[in-house]
Formats: sequence, structure tokens, C-alpha cells
Amino acid sequence: MHKCILYKKKSDKKVQCQACNWYCDISEGHTGLCGVRKNIKGDLYLSVYGKAIAAHVDNIEKKPLFHFLPGTEIFSIGTVGCNFRCLFCQNWDISQVRLKEPNETMGTDLPPKEIVKYCVENDIPSIAYTYNEPAIFFEYAYDTAKLAHKEGIKNIFVSNGFESKEALKKIEPYLDAINIDLKGFTEEFYKEICSARLQPVLDNIKHVHKMDVWLEITTLVIPTKNDSDEELTNIAEFIASISKDIPWHVTAFYPQYKMMDIPPTPPETLERAYEIGKKAGLNYVYTGNIPGMKGENTTCLKCKKEIIERFGLECTSCQVDNKGRCTNCNNKIVGIWK
Ligand code: SF4
Repeated sequence: MHKCILYKKKSDKKVQCQACNWYCDISEGHTGLCGVRKNIKGDLYLSVYGKAIAAHVDNIEKKPLFHFLPGTEIFSIGTVGCNFRCLFCQNWDISQVRLKEPNETMGTDLPPKEIVKYCVENDIPSIAYTYNEPAIFFEYAYDTAKLAHKEGIKNIFVSNGFESKEALKKIEPYLDAINIDLKGFTEEFYKEICSARLQPVLDNIKHVHKMDVWLEITTLVIPTKNDSDEELTNIAEFIASISKDIPWHVTAFYPQYKMMDIPPTPPETLERAYEIGKKAGLNYVYTGNIPGMKGENTTCLKCKKEIIERFGLECTSCQVDNKGRCTNCNNKIVGIWK
């Protein structure tokens, strides 16, 4: 158990958690909605601090981040628990775990300093807080991120975009990039499929774009649920209204968790989503989860050459120099390249 930093004390030994937009009021002996932040005698504790349920070295393309150190490795960690209940969750076996006993925790001991040490020793340039929502294990991510920056290692959140304003403010100096899921574009979708709310996610996307943090957005396209022209157009136009340079990943769904009755996303649907993104004016639209599809590569907006080629989760060639310029025509490409 590790004492949290994002909470406020209230009367009667209650606390209000301030890590995400639920702002749970938590009575003594209880946990918040995510199941990992617990009120013990009037203070809030994180039960999964230093307890990684998943830790892997991934390609950065897997996050997905396509305009951030392409072709590099990223140390990725997550814990149990989540503040959403997405019926299609691909990591449901860790995100939907609920700790039952008062002092129960789950995961392998992996303190912040060990993560950073591993990255230094193995020349891994960045760390992703991913697999489940990093806001709920905020203090673990925050302490790791601070140590990482001291060693010149970058930090990335892969997030549902439901962080509190307090969490974003606190992590901002140490956060280099974020991929936010924009899972749909109606409150009904967020309520019925994710047990969540849309508006705070939209507000956070606008806010993060103003921060000094590289932003990419992902939409998992689910047949019959969020794949209409109207919904995809609304998402694409919303992103374009913030910046046409924000990369939008449209990725294929596969039956998972409580959505086993929905078929996988056909390639034609992703092609349609890709065209909708381009029509909305987005400069960088990418298809994902179906290797080899049109839409995996990055094209220079000026010379029209394919300057970053990918296959699935691998970057196979990159013709952007470390100043972020196309090596063919010297055009500046948005992103973080060194
Ligand atoms: S992180 Fe969110 S869901 Fe978890 S206790 Fe805090 S406010 Fe509630």
C-alpha cells in the first residue's frame, strides 16, 4: 500500500480521489470505482503501487504511436483495475480484476527504480504506462516518470482520456506523449458500452493538445456500434477542428470479453474510416490491427513520398531525420523524432 497524492480529505474520514474524472467519494475501508484506490483510516492508498501485472518491451508502433521515435522499443507496464468497463476490452483479464480482501494486491514487484534501471541498461528510450488506465495507478506512473526523465527516458500514457485536471497538471512536466482512445462520439455509446462519459474525454483531448505533449488518437471501429458514416465523420471532424496534424488511428475490432457476438471489423470498414478521416482534412490517418492494409505508412505532405513504412506493428523503414525532416524534400514532419 502506498499513500496517494491525488486526493482530498473530507469530513467523517471520507476522501475524494482526484485521479480521474469520476472524483469518487470514498468512505473508510472502501475503494473507488477502479478498485485499486482505497480509503484506510481517512487517507487514500494505492494498492497496486510497484505491482506490475504486465511488463513487456514492445515496439512503439504497438501503442500505437506513429510520429514518436518510430522503430524504437518501449518498456510497457500496467496494473490490475480500470475506471471504465468496456464490453470490448482487449485486456479485460487484468483491467476488470477486482481485489476482494482488505489488503489484497496483485502483480509482480517492479518498483519505479527497477523499471528505469532496466531501460538504462538496455538502451530503451521510453516507458509506456498502458494495458490498463494509467490515471488509476497514477502515483506509480508519476514516480517512475520522474525518475525516467532524470535519465533522459521519455514517458508515454496510453489512456482512455478520463484523467482529472489535477492528474494532467501533475504529470505534464514528465509526460512526452499520449495516445487517447476516442471510443465513439455519443454519450449513449460511452454509457452503454463503456460505463463511462464522453464529454470529459473530449475536454481532455482539447486540453492535452494545448500541453507540451505529443498527442495521437485511436478509435477501435466496432461493427454496428460506432462504424456509421455519421459517427466516424463526427470523430474525424472533431479531431480536425483541434488540429489536422493529430494522427488518427482507426483500428480493427476482434471479438473479445462481452462482445463475442460481434464479428471482426472488415477491411472495407477501415478503408471507409480512412477515407472519412482524409475527407475531414486530417493529414495523418492510419489503419491498424490488419497488417498489410493501405493506411499503415506515413506520406510526406509535400513530396508525397512514403517516408515511413510499416507492416503491422513494425516500422520497416524511416526516412525522417532526427530533426524531423523528410530526407527526400526536407519538409518538416510533425512529431518527436529524437
Ligand atoms: S481513479 Fe477514478 S475511479 Fe479510481 S478511485 Fe480515483 S476517481 Fe475513482
